[in-house]
Amino acid sequence: MAYEVLARKWRPRQFDEIVGQEHVVTTLKNAIESDRVAHAYLFVGPRGIGKTTTARILAKALNCVEGPTVHPCDKCDACREIAQGSSMDVIEIDGASNNGVEQVRSLRETVHYSPVRGRYRIYIIDEVHMLTTPAFNALLKTLEEPPGHVKFFFATTEPQKIPATVLSRCQRFDLRPLTVKEIVGRLEEICAAEGFDVDQDALLAIARSAEGSLRDAESALDQLVAFCGKKIREGDVMAVFGMVARRELEGLGKAILTGDAATALETLSRFDRAGKDMNRVLEELLEHFRNLLVYMETGGRKAEELLPAQSAALADQAALTDVEKVMRIVETLIEAEQKMRYAASPRLLLEAAIVRACHASRVVSVGELMKRLEQLAAAVAGDAASAGGGITAHRSATRTPATRSAAAAGGKGGKDGSYRTADSVNREGRAAKIREKPHSGDDCVLLSEHWSEIIERVGRFAPLAPGYLRDAKPLRVEGSKVVLGFDREFSSEPELINIPRNRKAITRVLSEFLGREVDIELRILDARDTLPADIKTSELDAAAGAAKQRAQNGKSSATGQSSCKSHPRSGRKQDSLATRQKWMQNGTVQKILEAFGGDIVDIRA
Ligand SMILES: [Zn+2]
Repeated sequence: MAYEVLARKWRPRQFDEIVGQEHVVTTLKNAIESDRVAHAYLFVGPRGIGKTTTARILAKALNCVEGPTVHPCDKCDACREIAQGSSMDVIEIDGASNNGVEQVRSLRETVHYSPVRGRYRIYIIDEVHMLTTPAFNALLKTLEEPPGHVKFFFATTEPQKIPATVLSRCQRFDLRPLTVKEIVGRLEEICAAEGFDVDQDALLAIARSAEGSLRDAESALDQLVAFCGKKIREGDVMAVFGMVARRELEGLGKAILTGDAATALETLSRFDRAGKDMNRVLEELLEHFRNLLVYMETGGRKAEELLPAQSAALADQAALTDVEKVMRIVETLIEAEQKMRYAASPRLLLEAAIVRACHASRVVSVGELMKRLEQLAAAVAGDAASAGGGITAHRSATRTPATRSAAAAGGKGGKDGSYRTADSVNREGRAAKIREKPHSGDDCVLLSEHWSEIIERVGRFAPLAPGYLRDAKPLRVEGSKVVLGFDREFSSEPELINIPRNRKAITRVLSEFLGREVDIELRILDARDTLPADIKTSELDAAAGAAKQRAQNGKSSATGQSSCKSHPRSGRKQDSLATRQKWMQNGTVQKILEAFGGDIVDIRA
């Protein structure tokens, strides 16, 4: 006997065998039992979820010799012919083929003939939205005044393409994509009956790849059996479909949630080495966070759609985060998904997106901010009542780690050691500070951290550029402008690099990396650029206007930009230190600094 594909062999024969469309099945059964079957039905939904199968079972239910019945016998001639597609009374038309249009035209002539054997002449038109306008017009005439013995069952993936005049004459049923759990359940039945040995992780992987389509899942199982034989493990599915193992994916999700960019990038690089498709990784990552979001928003109630292993991992991750953070991560990933199609290097794009998502997970949410503000207000009010006292002790106990480590390093600018000079900012403190900052200020740090990678990438488009870029470094990111600095000794290099081809390559790679269009400015480093480092790590960014003013005053500039300099503070700011010092003693200022883990950057009249 010829091999029959699983999707065909296991096609449901009874209403009760249809998976996941209870709402449709119940309504249809009620209509049959109460003898109120409409003359036209429209089944809507994505591919492979049972639209035409439902239509065929409904046809059997109406034409079975024991019918109309909700349990067609599957034994009588009518049932068997419908199952084989050879019934004279059930005419299947594929709207997508040219033939379909012809068939609809001839439909008008044949529609008035009585059924040959059964009770009804049933027209099942698949992909009905593909019919041409003349075909729809022909159909409409019949739909307006159908003879009593005629039924129309339409199926479509794109109902919006069907004329309203046709839609309004149909009873519409929307079939939904199947959940992973439903697909796994059905595959388990099939495997048990067919004698396949497929473990649950492998079934889960097949179900995930099928995106709600049972037929796709069954075809995938067919393909795997052909490749691997009857024993299938998760690794086989990964290898055949270029997917990522569930646990690895969950690990990546967790790294992003905890803001652990190093682990996230390491995982991604492992995927890349294993030849995984970056598009696919991104899709699966999005699906993971979508599940997490639904899980959190419904308090785990939607867990019945998930397998136990999945919901355990989601519960674990839900405890690590809040909905707002997951939303931001999802937004970041969706943004990347939209750019993925045009990306020259999907891996670079995904890496940048993951780093950004890691940052997004660390940003303090509005809710948290409000909570801190309320605490702050209460604290300040309390201080006013008790007229100060004990503030210093309280502060040193609650300062952020960054400031604490700076304090431990012993800043020479402050009596109490809590005021940080550039000398006192050790690397650890800086790293902690950077992590706390919102991403706009981190772009420059991000570029610095990946500078060699960026140079290498630029080299692919402009082979000569890397030679010059190695002597440059990202100085700051000002909105859509990235300023690259060259040391004085390489003062001829900006000119050499500033040819269109190089510029284009650099802006392209930087834009890709930052996920937005940016331009570059090339600059020779001068005294102005040797600015104190603690300015950039401030939470309270000074406005650009003030920066300009200071520049005009012959003092420093570029405060409030995302500057990458790390030179020690120069002595000329000493006079303003005293003023800062004074403000640092102020109880309310201290409270504000504590609440936001901030620092004083600038004092203006
Ligand atoms: Zn029958």
